[in-house]
Amino acid sequence: MSANALTYLSATLKLASVKPVHPPADITEVRIGEPVLNAEALAELRAACGTEYVSTERLDRIEHSGGKSTEDLLRIRAGDALGAPDAVIFPASSEEIREVLAVCAARGIAVTAFGGGTSVVGGVSPLRGTFDAAITLDMRRMNKMLHLDPRSRTATFEAGLRGPGIEAALEPHGFTLGHFPQSHQEATLGGYVATRSAGQASTGYGRSDDLVKSVHLETPAGPLVAGSTAPGTAAGPKLLDVIVGSEGAFGVITSATLKIVPVPTHKSYGSWSFASFTAGAEAIRRLRHEGLSGDLPHVCRLSDSDETASTFKLGGPKTAALGKYLSVRGQATPALALFLWEGATKETAARKRRSARILRAAGGIPTGPIPARAWEHGRFSGPYLRDELLTRGVYVETLETSATWTSLDSTYHAVREAILKSLAEHGGTGYVQSHISHIYPDGASLYFTYLAGVESDGLAQHARVKQAASKAIVAAGSTITHHHSVGTDHAPYLGAEIGALGLDVLRGIKNTLDPAGIMNPGKLIPAAIKEQP
Ligand SMILES: Cc1cc2nc3c(=O)[nH]c(=O)nc-3n(C[C@H](O)[C@H](O)[C@H](O)COP(=O)(O)OP(=O)(O)OC[C@H]3O[C@@H](n4cnc5c(N)ncnc54)[C@H](O)[C@@H]3O)c2cc1C
Repeated sequence: MSANALTYLSATLKLASVKPVHPPADITEVRIGEPVLNAEALAELRAACGTEYVSTERLDRIEHSGGKSTEDLLRIRAGDALGAPDAVIFPASSEEIREVLAVCAARGIAVTAFGGGTSVVGGVSPLRGTFDAAITLDMRRMNKMLHLDPRSRTATFEAGLRGPGIEAALEPHGFTLGHFPQSHQEATLGGYVATRSAGQASTGYGRSDDLVKSVHLETPAGPLVAGSTAPGTAAGPKLLDVIVGSEGAFGVITSATLKIVPVPTHKSYGSWSFASFTAGAEAIRRLRHEGLSGDLPHVCRLSDSDETASTFKLGGPKTAALGKYLSVRGQATPALALFLWEGATKETAARKRRSARILRAAGGIPTGPIPARAWEHGRFSGPYLRDELLTRGVYVETLETSATWTSLDSTYHAVREAILKSLAEHGGTGYVQSHISHIYPDGASLYFTYLAGVESDGLAQHARVKQAASKAIVAAGSTITHHHSVGTDHAPYLGAEIGALGLDVLRGIKNTLDPAGIMNPGKLIPAAIKEQP
């Protein structure tokens, strides 16, 4: 992290220093419990997958003790892997998973599916629920593209294939999935489908749940294929939608068929500045409503004034000069929007020109292609700073929601204020910045990043702020998660969104597919299945 960034952080957060004072525990010091799986259970699991693919090694268990949520990071940095699974299993096929689930259901062993482990909501914490033992199923060996239909533009992948592997398999055939979440380098196809992830270009390509055609799910009750290759169907309710987003609580996704598109050969970059976040959001709404639908940019990101200020401060001399230019043009606290039009022809430039008319009419000032190019260049690197920031005593967290165009502004202010108030509760100074990154006909996503000095009890600080923000989201009538999914963190708020009967419907489905309740206990559905009457 640059000296400039550190100075900016310590000044903004009013920290005495941002020296590396909170180093993570050495791996040899990490505390981990004794595995409780008995010899018979281990023998049966080994018979299902092969001895070398059932690991009780300390390092494997530590690596699978959590994902990438702030709580996960704080715990592991403090040397706490006490919740690690008893064994980590690396299956190679649907049949092996079927056998593993049969052993676990018969013996009462909790099962957590693990893709890239990038969950930021506690999704891969190997909770035991009402069971004594827990295993994690790491999907990394199921990493192939199984089928490509270039004429119909669909491809079938095994669930453990990571983002770069998906693109590497499609690229020689001239196709892309077009799905690039910020976790693209680590996250897997199964993880995308299980969490309904949204990529950075989802405005153009659609979210993962828009792309899925069918899914093969292994459940304790048997295999289930949901969805079909039919381009359209009226064959009853869309069962696929129940499986997509099921977060490993109903079964293990072993493969899925998704829509693919030709690799774009042309890209046009643009950025526009607006007098405020509210003005920028209104401009984007007009772009969505007044423009031709084909003109919409694939990437559409609007930063609020705080995020724009950080970009100008940390982006080097060119972006700093841009900030000064906008100030002279009367935008004292500008909100910067980045756009990227992708396509197979030079038509992207014409789409950009037509969009420019709307953005100018909405009060925007064009600021050229460089900010969007710079964002694309560094778009996967930002999150890697999280660990360094924690080492330096800086707490950083993100959360997200979405709101209709009508309630976007009020939701933005309510959540922002709730976070700032909570950060300040113990006398600290917090900083919140936000952006829109996915737009829909009826509204947009809101993504918040907040920073503060780590308090003496970082876990309590995190729980407090997250709860305050979540309550503000619920009170605003917005969704508890736009793309991070439910996991453990959002499970207490799911009832407010889908109602008590909605939760019962989910429990009913779980009871059918997973009667013993072994699949990912404590995630998605708030109460453990066994506690239900
Ligand atoms: C730095 C960073 C950036 C991120 N950026 C984005 C972003 O831009 N957009 C976005 O949507 N999300 C983002 N996320 C969140 C996360 O990456 C996504 O939720 C992603 O889809 C998870 O994929 P994964 O393979 O890592 O799943 P995991 O973290 O391994 O698992 C997530 C959940 O899915 C379940 N699961 C995983 N594989 C399977 C399977 N085969 N069958 C059944 N259940 C399964 C797990 O049990 C768990 O409940 C980000 C996370 C990080 C750390």
